[in-house]
Amino acid sequence: MKVYKFGGTSVGSAERFRALIPLINDNTKKIVVLSAMAGTTNALVDMSQLFSEGKKKASGIKCEAMRKQYHAVADALFSSETWSSKAHDLVDEHFGYVDSLFSKEYSRHNEKRILARGELISTAFLHFLLSEIGIPSVLIPALNFMRIDKDGEPDYFYIRENLKRELAAVNDEKIIITQGFICRNAYGETDNLRRGGSDYSATIIGAATEAEEVQIWTDISGLHNNDPRFVKNTRVIRNLSFDEAAELAYFGAKILHPSSINPARMKNIPVRLKNTMEPSDEGTLITSVSIPKDYKAVAAKDGIIVLRVRSDRMLMAYGFMRRIFEVFEGFKTPIDMITTSEVSVSLTIDDSTYLDEIVKALSSIGVVEVEKEQTIICVVGDFRPDRVGSAPEIFEALNTIPVKMISYGGSGNSVSILINSSDKTVALQSLSLNLFPEDDIQ
Ligand code: ADP
Ligand code: ASP
Ligand code: MG
Repeated sequence: MKVYKFGGTSVGSAERFRALIPLINDNTKKIVVLSAMAGTTNALVDMSQLFSEGKKKASGIKCEAMRKQYHAVADALFSSETWSSKAHDLVDEHFGYVDSLFSKEYSRHNEKRILARGELISTAFLHFLLSEIGIPSVLIPALNFMRIDKDGEPDYFYIRENLKRELAAVNDEKIIITQGFICRNAYGETDNLRRGGSDYSATIIGAATEAEEVQIWTDISGLHNNDPRFVKNTRVIRNLSFDEAAELAYFGAKILHPSSINPARMKNIPVRLKNTMEPSDEGTLITSVSIPKDYKAVAAKDGIIVLRVRSDRMLMAYGFMRRIFEVFEGFKTPIDMITTSEVSVSLTIDDSTYLDEIVKALSSIGVVEVEKEQTIICVVGDFRPDRVGSAPEIFEALNTIPVKMISYGGSGNSVSILINSSDKTVALQSLSLNLFPEDDIQ
């Protein structure tokens, strides 16, 4: 069995919904994981923001506008009275529910319930569409099996057991549809796998069912060697290892959710990135095999904060690092990059939830300096310890901008560099020119 995940643009309109039919109706068994229609989750986030600010009228107006938009999609998508009226009822039911929440107090839980509407509607629409055409399919609710634990990690035992039960009940079906992104938390409440989480849903489902392959269908033909939103003429990479793809996803390649490679790597399940607009393009295949190449790809992760801790007491002392790390552990804040000298340590984080508390705690260890609006550039390639030279092409590319931190040797397949976010576009473009000179960058 395979798992197919279709992202927001792949279900972005009535036309795109119809274009999925030949891709999924090929007489092989598959689980189809869907995102919300493009723009929906952003609109639901905006609506929740207004709700959290107490602007209930404004959130109600937004809700009504979305309800109308979805009615228009339903009009364009269904031709029979039966399925059209089911779709219109479904839209009213979901937006009626959202509207009813606005009469209650805002809470994080109510926000999660609102954010779940997009995937609940898109999956129902696909199921209705297939039913209208006469193609058998079944919809299994992700909230019946997808669950995260108290640390926000997938609860694999629960997921496996519950998904197995759901699948056993629909054993003969070829097309099994479910929602990406949404899940329950350890308390049974509606939650989600964070923005872009449908990729993660797909690989978690792939791992839980030991699928033959996970296919992530999106609006671009595979993972490119640089961020196409900032660099022109980027090129697709045909093969990547799990480790390489995981680094790129974690360090900002938006095509994949940051954690989405982990479940596939754990069970050695190939992940294929495909383009719904060009289904014949082979895209990118991610497996355990790495084909060495000096430079493969570049990605950038914004929203980084650097903390510099300086103390003369560090000189020749031991136990210092432990004390610093304990602060981050205490506030459940992961560190991305770290560099050290005899008297100072620089660390980066991307989660500012406990920044003030962390700075306060670190101040008892040394003088702390904080710098925000930083970006980590990650270059994936062959950086195994026996590589000759220090990758001068990277540093030549960056020689017109301030380089704040460098992490070389931490991993055999990547180098990370910290820069000011304002220098990101120039850095990415210059890296493409230097590392991938065969590309025609304008
Ligand atoms: P979906 O809605 O299908 O999940 P996303 O918008 O989340 O799609 O991801 C696809 C987008 O990721 C592409 O349109 C592209 O702009 C962006 N992207 C960023 N970095 C890369 C990269 N290295 N390779 C391919 N796409 C990338
Ligand atoms: N709809 C969700 C989002 O926009 C999940 C996803 O698209 O993967 O974040
Ligand atoms: Mg995505």
